Amino acid sequence: MVDEQAREEVVRFTSDLIRIDTTNRGGGDCQERPAAEYAAARLAEAGLEPTLLERTRGRTNVVARVPGTDPRADALLVHGHLDVVPAEAGDWSVHPFSGEVRDGVVWGRGAVDMKNMDAMILAVVRNWARAGVRPRRDLVIAFTADEEASAEDGSGFLADRHADLFEGCTEGISESGAFTFHDGTGRQIYPIAAGERGTGWLKLTARGRAGHGSKVNRSNAVTRLAAAVARIGAHEWPLRLTPTVRAALTELAALYGLDTALDDVEGLLEKLGPAAALVEPTVRNSANPTMLSAGYKVNVIPGEAVAYIDGRYLPGGEDEFRTTLDELTGPDVDWEFQHHEVALQAPVDAPTFARMRAAVQEFAPEGHVVPYCMSGGTDAKQFSRLGITGYGFAPLKLPAGFDYQALFHGVDERVPVDALHFGVRVLDRFLSS
Ligand SMILES: [Zn+2]
Repeated sequence: MVDEQAREEVVRFTSDLIRIDTTNRGGGDCQERPAAEYAAARLAEAGLEPTLLERTRGRTNVVARVPGTDPRADALLVHGHLDVVPAEAGDWSVHPFSGEVRDGVVWGRGAVDMKNMDAMILAVVRNWARAGVRPRRDLVIAFTADEEASAEDGSGFLADRHADLFEGCTEGISESGAFTFHDGTGRQIYPIAAGERGTGWLKLTARGRAGHGSKVNRSNAVTRLAAAVARIGAHEWPLRLTPTVRAALTELAALYGLDTALDDVEGLLEKLGPAAALVEPTVRNSANPTMLSAGYKVNVIPGEAVAYIDGRYLPGGEDEFRTTLDELTGPDVDWEFQHHEVALQAPVDAPTFARMRAAVQEFAPEGHVVPYCMSGGTDAKQFSRLGITGYGFAPLKLPAGFDYQALFHGVDERVPVDALHFGVRVLDRFLSS
């Protein structure tokens, strides 16, 4: 049971953590240490023994273990990142690092991504310490640095160098799942993430013969690059249903009273209306051209031209992604991974998924839980190297008109106090079950 103090603490911790500016601008420009010390102090007050770990000074991670009652049970990792993306104060209604609580809403950068979840984790384990509750499985709690950039100072470092702290962990939970998705017709859907697309950020390099801009040139690097970029941008990636997306579509089709046979996925997506947004980005690979660079003077043909592509591939889709890129770039353009992260897939028929589903439904009986695959990635990718299967489960009950996904990295990021209270109750129920 969640007590009054836990309800007060989750709001105060969210607000306090927002006030500690942990903006991650990339390139190592971030200091998570004050937030890590804050979280570690709250854990220590609950009788835990948090360890602070740094690969780079100031880029601090916190790990603590909550011993379970069943020593034979596998451990569960519960992780949240401490850094946030930048916020331009001039665009906001309130200062993004004020952590202001106004009219029942906590405002600020990190309110949904993901200082809310960090605060919920802290509130739950402190509640347990007061009530004498112990979970069945060991819980490993990790607050990480650097999720919003390369994870090299955060979960990547922990997975590489401190695997011993995660001993026994087989599954993990973290951000981007179990929030209320309002479909516009009164249905409330709670998507729980059971997979992530992989990341393939590509650098394309076209080479050709440099020369005078007035001369005939059949080996123009800019022309070659532009053709390859246009082919990639226009490519229609084929539909591929992974087990998670198949399960999501089947459950959504049933919820909407539609044919669950999935023999016309495009047709089904159309009929699902707004709810199609939960699956549409993950029924195929994608590759979007995002940056171009070539030349230095209008009458000089450069010998080289470069482009960058944001590619994402489905679990099991990396080989097809690579082969297709080879074909689309052709013989005159080389491509390489500038950044490369695995795709993840977690079983939706696992007992843990059933327990997450039950915990949400207990406190949101009007809600419909469905699995889904994330289109992007989280720290779960790094922890997967330790054999940890990751789920996105950071429960929040949101009112209609509250566009959770738009608030991620968005202006006026905020979270209702009620949503935090719901999150603590669901998290408490799931983690103690
Ligand atoms: Zn996040």
